[in-house]
Amino acid sequence: MSCDTHVLVIGAGIVGVSAALNLQRRGLRVTLADRRAPGEGASFGNAGILVPGAMVPVPVPGLMKKAPGMLLRGKGPLFLRWPYLPVMLPWLARYLANGTDRNVRRIADALMPIIGDSLEEHLALARGTPAEARIRAQPYLFAYRDRAAFEADGYGWAIRRAQGVGWREFEGDAVSGLEPALGPGYRFVAALEASHGRVDGPGDYVKALAESFVAAGGALVEAAFTDFARDGEKITGVLFADRVIRADKILVAAGAWSARVLKPLGLRIPLESERGYHAELWEPEGGPAHCIMLSDSKTAVTPMTGRVRFAGLVEFGGLDAGPRRAPLRAVRAGAAAFPGMSWRRETEWLGHRPAPADSIPYIGAVPAWPNVYTAFGHHHVGLTGGARTGRLVADLIAGATPNIDMTPYRVDR
Ligand SMILES: Cc1cc2nc3c(=O)[nH]c(=O)nc-3n(C[C@H](O)[C@H](O)[C@H](O)COP(=O)(O)OP(=O)(O)OC[C@H]3O[C@@H](n4cnc5c(N)ncnc54)[C@H](O)[C@@H]3O)c2cc1C
Repeated sequence: MSCDTHVLVIGAGIVGVSAALNLQRRGLRVTLADRRAPGEGASFGNAGILVPGAMVPVPVPGLMKKAPGMLLRGKGPLFLRWPYLPVMLPWLARYLANGTDRNVRRIADALMPIIGDSLEEHLALARGTPAEARIRAQPYLFAYRDRAAFEADGYGWAIRRAQGVGWREFEGDAVSGLEPALGPGYRFVAALEASHGRVDGPGDYVKALAESFVAAGGALVEAAFTDFARDGEKITGVLFADRVIRADKILVAAGAWSARVLKPLGLRIPLESERGYHAELWEPEGGPAHCIMLSDSKTAVTPMTGRVRFAGLVEFGGLDAGPRRAPLRAVRAGAAAFPGMSWRRETEWLGHRPAPADSIPYIGAVPAWPNVYTAFGHHHVGLTGGARTGRLVADLIAGATPNIDMTPYRVDR
């Protein structure tokens, strides 16, 4: 591939920025375009946790029995904007159909090569840049009320074990020894260790990576995608709201908005927004030192510089509706797990996880348009898998053969 080859990346979240840096490091000319500043999409507000142990998708056997109760209770962890239900029904039917044991194992097999070495992948991506200082190696604690609650969650742990992910168990007083801020309501912890970690401020992390890309000669433009530019059957670039950018190859890495971006090419990708929220408690005292999953409420808790972030929940309601109070209250309620913690002020956020119906990201060339590539659909693990995804898609664009089987990620699967 000639270094004159110009690649245009649409979307400056963790996936697009990682791809742009990897392409640049392979000697290609790269433009990174986003309608906003880098790291302002889902990559801004996630829990910041690098979790190779998160290969278990949301739809698992038994979900259908629990989901109606969760929805009717109105306290989470599942929410639905009811008027949106008819819009998302075709996607939802496919999504739920994937919750069989066979499919869960297939999804876990597909996710592991993307997320398995996440800590090492992020350290390699950020090496030599100011972003590196934001990565911390640290266990991820799954906190349960007691051992019985952990055992009731045994299906997911069996999937993790089958994927070679181990954990250490702490019970009773050992839990307080490990994480003194966690209140007495949580008497059992499973700690995921190898290759787990966290990113201190994921939005700032992505911005720091993007600044390194620019410092090394990459072009960053703030512009909103409207359509592809064509010359007959060939895509020659992208039409943005205020300009046209010509490119030899185009990568769509627009997260939850990627299906909209690809629509003008006639592609119908089964991708939904799985909305999630965070509440941040600033200037905390007596907060946790670890990132913790509160397994009863499915809230992830992450210490970050100056604040503790409570993030999570699943709300279906599309890309265009604003935030709602009930999920924000539910995510904020996680603070009760830390009875000794105090703080001075709070902020809140709604974001959009890119959720394919089968929970497997789309990474590769678009068969009908071979100079258009995709890298999106990372659902709950986009930060974790973003570094590796950028490397894989950069290989494909540069004409190299990745060292894993890319079949599961094909856009025409
Ligand atoms: C509450 C919550 C907690 C999470 N916690 C974790 C976690 O702890 N660990 C983890 O691994 N993952 C986590 N995730 C998932 C993770 O945040 C996402 O999978 C990941 O950020 C997706 O990255 P992305 O680059 O694909 O998308 P995004 O970060 O959303 O980036 C897409 C970009 O495309 C741009 N764009 C869209 N449309 C256009 C257009 N028309 N023109 C130009 N630009 C456009 C957007 O502005 C945006 O910047 C969490 C998500 C949520 C919501």
